[in-house]
Amino acid sequence: MQRYFGQIITNQVLLGDDDIFHLTKVMRARVGDEIEVVSNEKVFLCKVSKLKPHIEIDAIKQIKENHELKNHVILVAALIKGEKMDFVLQKATELGVGEIILLQTERTIVKIKPAEKDLKLERYRRILKEAAEQCKRTRIPLLYRVIDMNSLKDIDAQVKMIAYEEESGATESFNSIIRSIKDKQKVAIVIGPEGGFSEKEVDSAVAAGYKRVSLGKRILRAETASFYALSVISNHLERK
Ligand code: SAM
Repeated sequence: MQRYFGQIITNQVLLGDDDIFHLTKVMRARVGDEIEVVSNEKVFLCKVSKLKPHIEIDAIKQIKENHELKNHVILVAALIKGEKMDFVLQKATELGVGEIILLQTERTIVKIKPAEKDLKLERYRRILKEAAEQCKRTRIPLLYRVIDMNSLKDIDAQVKMIAYEEESGATESFNSIIRSIKDKQKVAIVIGPEGGFSEKEVDSAVAAGYKRVSLGKRILRAETASFYALSVISNHLERK
């Protein structure tokens, strides 16, 4: 069943124009069709009650479910080129991330100029919303920050890791930090760009309280490293 993020006010469903277009023109909704709508992180079963002169959708009942991770996980992802960035946003959403912070480092090839930031973040947020609808989440990951390495210290998390490719080898440090995550603790994992981190950058992250971790013996592409790290974290958090 198709899921949308919207608002429900006195049992009436309010959806954005894009979603109305998708529902009426792409899904060709008919009166009586049912959809799921997430409003304030609660899921409702809703039914199309009218199509003309404009669509009306009624909330029928709340659906009790929770597909969110129990800890807030923050992916601090260095900007990478083109579609790979889109892919990281989509997969991070599917893997339960709570927030994505974009990172500009010494070696990031992609730079977001201030003039283009709003448009770019808007496009990225559409990817997050679509991914959250597809994987049946009740929350769309936050994305509003583009930072540099100096701002890592300002990230509010109790478990902080930086994946460093020069650390490659046994994953014990990564695993033991993940096993130490306690309820309600926020977790931040930093992943570098195609060109990796400089030693100086890693030292500054360590000084800001981030632990260097290895993601194994092989050098992963930046996008693979994000998926790998988030898969291990979410797998651990959902092991029971
Ligand atoms: N420039 C590096 C090289 O070619 O040796 C590769 C950087 S890698 C493409 C991009 C990012 O993925 C790294 O900065 C790191 O955050 C992460 N990464 C990749 N493989 C890793 C590993 N085995 N252990 C820890 N982090 C890794």
